[in-house]
Amino acid sequence: MPGPPRKRRHAPLFDDRAPQPPPARVPVLLPYPFAGPFDYRVPPGLQVAPGDLVLVPLNRREEIGVVWDGPPDATVGDNRLRPMSGRIDGPPMREDLRRLIDWIAAYTLAPPGEVLAMALRVNALRAEPPPTGWRLADPLPETRLTDARKNALAALADGQPRTGAELARAAAVSSGVLRGMAEAGLLVPAALPVRPPFDRPDPGHPGPTLSPDQADAAAALRAAVRGHAFSVTLLDGVTGSGKTEVYLEAVSECLRAGRQALVLLPEIALSAQWLDRFVHRFGVAPAVWHSDLSSRVRRTTWRAVDAGAAPVVVGARSALFLPFPDLGLIIVDEEHETAFKQEEGVVYHARDMAVVRARLCEAAAILVSATPSLETIANVQAGRYRRLHLPDRHGGALLPEIVLVDMRITPPERGRFLAPPVVAAVRAAFARGEQAMLFLNRRGYAPLTLCRSCGHRMQCPNCTAWLVEHRARRELQCHHCGHAVPIPPACPQCAAEHSLTPVGPGVERITEEAKALFPDARTLVMASDTLPGPNASAAAARSIAAREVDLIIGTQIVAKGWHFPHLTLVGVVDADLGLAGGDLRAAERTVQLLHQVAGRAGRAEAPGRVLLQTFSPEHPVMQALLSGRLEEFMAREAAQRRPGNWPPFGRLAALIISAETAEAADTLARDLGRAAPHGDGILVLGPAPAPLALLRGRHRRRLLLKTRRDIPVQPLLRDWLAAVPVRGSARVDVDVDPVSFL
Ligand code: ADP
Ligand code: ZN
Repeated sequence: MPGPPRKRRHAPLFDDRAPQPPPARVPVLLPYPFAGPFDYRVPPGLQVAPGDLVLVPLNRREEIGVVWDGPPDATVGDNRLRPMSGRIDGPPMREDLRRLIDWIAAYTLAPPGEVLAMALRVNALRAEPPPTGWRLADPLPETRLTDARKNALAALADGQPRTGAELARAAAVSSGVLRGMAEAGLLVPAALPVRPPFDRPDPGHPGPTLSPDQADAAAALRAAVRGHAFSVTLLDGVTGSGKTEVYLEAVSECLRAGRQALVLLPEIALSAQWLDRFVHRFGVAPAVWHSDLSSRVRRTTWRAVDAGAAPVVVGARSALFLPFPDLGLIIVDEEHETAFKQEEGVVYHARDMAVVRARLCEAAAILVSATPSLETIANVQAGRYRRLHLPDRHGGALLPEIVLVDMRITPPERGRFLAPPVVAAVRAAFARGEQAMLFLNRRGYAPLTLCRSCGHRMQCPNCTAWLVEHRARRELQCHHCGHAVPIPPACPQCAAEHSLTPVGPGVERITEEAKALFPDARTLVMASDTLPGPNASAAAARSIAAREVDLIIGTQIVAKGWHFPHLTLVGVVDADLGLAGGDLRAAERTVQLLHQVAGRAGRAEAPGRVLLQTFSPEHPVMQALLSGRLEEFMAREAAQRRPGNWPPFGRLAALIISAETAEAADTLARDLGRAAPHGDGILVLGPAPAPLALLRGRHRRRLLLKTRRDIPVQPLLRDWLAAVPVRGSARVDVDVDPVSFL
């Protein structure tokens, strides 16, 4: 039987007896949500290697991409391949950073280009060329030398390049003389040494004398850093036990080893006090990294990190993508904080990715917390992480006494929110000349505005959410989408005048009440909208430390890390608040937050007291806080989650469906529901309307995939998503290891 006709090969256009190498092609990853890198042709004469930043054509534009690793994919024929335009000067993206990008993309299911975009935003792209100056030509051409020229040559005799201005000044010559000398070939341009913008912290700078427990923990951490290998250590201990002092010893060891250290903080507002402590410990400030830096500071910092000239960086999540050439230590302070989870764009957990980065660069990772997450505790128990424990507060300071104020027995006066025992305790603290703090995790004046005539509730038109009154700004605002309207004079529903009433308190309302109760107290409000940026919180912290403030009223921003030595009383206005939503980690998070807040009290000699206003003093969370037996509480949490394979004992991933219409969202949610994976150890919950069923005008539905721990969710998710087409305005966002269930 004749076989299929053989395709005849066309005669080559060129003589192929001397075979040409095929045009070189390389994969280039672009900072867009494509499925992977695209191949580009490398024009003759251009040399590129993985990590190089290159300019390539995309549609009708030029884009910056990064030459990626691995073989080209070759699905596009050589003849259709477009050539790259050129290489961008500057340091290539290092291998460990490329692997981190691949890793995050694979784990979170984000397109790799989207992760790259995040890393490139960190990059100081299109940086201006390094400053240049002049040096002597070598050899010097034979020409006649005027005295002016001789002076200029003498000023460069030490071999150090100088800027034109410096040189003109040193040699007392005009710039015209220098120009002439350059034309005569006497002077040649030379790169100026980049002065390191960050001083080298001195590892020998004396630290505090450590207690025996602290010294043991510090020695173990130093050994981990010296090991020059990947390791993860949990450093836990009650608030005020000296965890920061201890991990700064690890930083010092890392400096001795000549490697770089990165410290991640959950809230960059915190960095002010942290920086003071760092300066105190090492004599100089570290580099700081967060999204509010000016572009000039960003550029200098990025370059310094890249050149190894920023020995210590403290920063927010995005600092994970800085180009450390030799990272020896990553510290995640307050590792239990949900702020480490990025919820927008690439949905990733900076704590977990810090561990990944540490593994990629053979570094030690230290997770620090007074209330470690159950995830980290489980990793300790499984032997994956090591644990170091500091049992006592430093210097014999006692943990604060916790008191539950039963709101059913001692309720506040009508229209008020502070119960009599709290009011009395605040007065007593002031009488002793000490500071007090009132904590309520809610911004604004009131979370709900209601019409007394018709019962109408003021709701956001774009979100499933009430509008929050901000009385100082005279407006109602949505905390999800930012929608804001002036407080209307009449009910928009029934037109009744003066009938809109605030319901419930926010910090603004507590401040109003406190001013009425304690008219002489100097009050400071600390909330993200009253303290924008690290400088404002630094100023606030300083004035608290300088005792210019008697009463601090704040949201969760006051809970974290601060050390206020004169603060002895903390009143928690609504201890039950975090339990209301009732998601998987509500109890764990409430304990962590309230323990953290409580830890602000009594950090120096005077003992602290913490009063928790609650309607359910018998709740296990309140009991755990009262007894201080947090390990027991976490063990109970673990026992509740283990049987159902809830995290950390099983894996969880959420699909969030959103669309412009409810129908489109429902259709896609139903299609995904039908295509859901199934099998032993696999469970899919939903689809169901998301608690925020409407967000920024988009209708939202959720599905939750839960698997046994030995079943990786990524392949299941990939197949699942591939099976269901997404059309029109609809989209599906994937959240692996969800923290928020809204
Ligand atoms: P944590 O991070 O566990 O809350 P810190 O490291 O902030 O604890 O320590 C609490 C306070 O005690 C800080 O003011 C710190 O400087 C001080 N401190 C801790 N250990 C020592 C020590 N060994 N010597 C002197 N001061 C210490
Ligand atoms: Zn809204």
